[in-house]
Amino acid sequence: MIRGKLMEQRATRKMTSWSWQCEIVPYAEEYIRDITTRKEHLIVRQSTTFKAEVESLHSRHIVDIESRGCTCKVWQLIGLPCIHAIAFIGMKEHPLWHTTFMNTSTCTGNSYI
Ligand SMILES: [Zn+2]
Repeated sequence: MIRGKLMEQRATRKMTSWSWQCEIVPYAEEYIRDITTRKEHLIVRQSTTFKAEVESLHSRHIVDIESRGCTCKVWQLIGLPCIHAIAFIGMKEHPLWHTTFMNTSTCTGNSYI
C-alpha cells in the first residue's frame, strides 16, 4: 500500500524532527523541514525572552517572537516564521513554538489522509 508506506515515512520523519501538538498543512511542513535543516549555520544571541539577534554568514537580523516579526520581513510576508525565527524558537523549544504554528497553519489533526 503506497499510502501506508507514505504515512510510515512521515511518522519516522516526524520523530526525528519536532514533536508537534497537531498536524500542519503539507506546505508548512515542507517549509519548516527545509529551514530547520539550514538553521544550524546561524548564531543566535538572545536578548530578551522574545527577542534575539540571529547572525548568519552574510546577514544579521532581529527576531521578535512577541510581535511575530523579523527584520528580514519574511515572517510578516508569508505568515510563517523565517529561518531566523525558527533558529531562535527552536534553540530552546520556546514555549511559543507550538502556538506560533497553531495560529499560522490549518490544524485539522488529520491532514495526511
Ligand atoms: Zn528573519
